[in-house]
Amino acid sequence: MKFRHNRAPFYRAQTWRPLEEDGRARPAVQIFLTQRAFIRICAHAGSNLQNEVGGWLVGKVYLNKDDEKPFIVINTILPAEFTLQGSAFLTFTHESQVNLHATMAEKYPDLLILGWFHTHPRMGVFFSEWDRWLHENFFPELWQVGLVIEPFSASGGFFQKQVDGSLDTRQYFGFNELFHHRRRSIVHWRNLIPVENIKNEMRQK
Ligand SMILES: [Zn+2]
Repeated sequence: MKFRHNRAPFYRAQTWRPLEEDGRARPAVQIFLTQRAFIRICAHAGSNLQNEVGGWLVGKVYLNKDDEKPFIVINTILPAEFTLQGSAFLTFTHESQVNLHATMAEKYPDLLILGWFHTHPRMGVFFSEWDRWLHENFFPELWQVGLVIEPFSASGGFFQKQVDGSLDTRQYFGFNELFHHRRRSIVHWRNLIPVENIKNEMRQK
């Protein structure tokens, strides 16, 4: 698949990273998450605190003009309406897959499925063996990511492939919060800290 070149929009983003981050990690893509998508994710994550809920991340993939590296912009989400839910179980049924492709073709013909998100109520932010299986089977591309949200502690993180294709299920990553109009952050996850974005400062001078 060929992707369009664009400039990674660091100049209107706030970068968030986990409190504990492995500095040697080399994620395959930079993640930009719009504030609109963030709000929708949080609303869906809080809609059922007894069961895991989830859905798909929808948006675009670009190549950064500055360094030729891919980055993704998550514009919106699609809640997975037809998943089977249990206290620690979430899957994508055949019906939900069929429904997904129909919805994408009808509502978002120019957008791609960039990955998925799901909640781990009272369990923490991690990728289980089942999560890894789902991710590798349904979201095999280097630019597809998995977001896990723990609604009780207000935390979340992205699992993503590294440049060598490996997926570490113990380590999650932060993201770049993409502002709409005003430069005011709305991210409230307690396990992430804001990064002074050197690239932002330089662009503004
Ligand atoms: Zn899970």
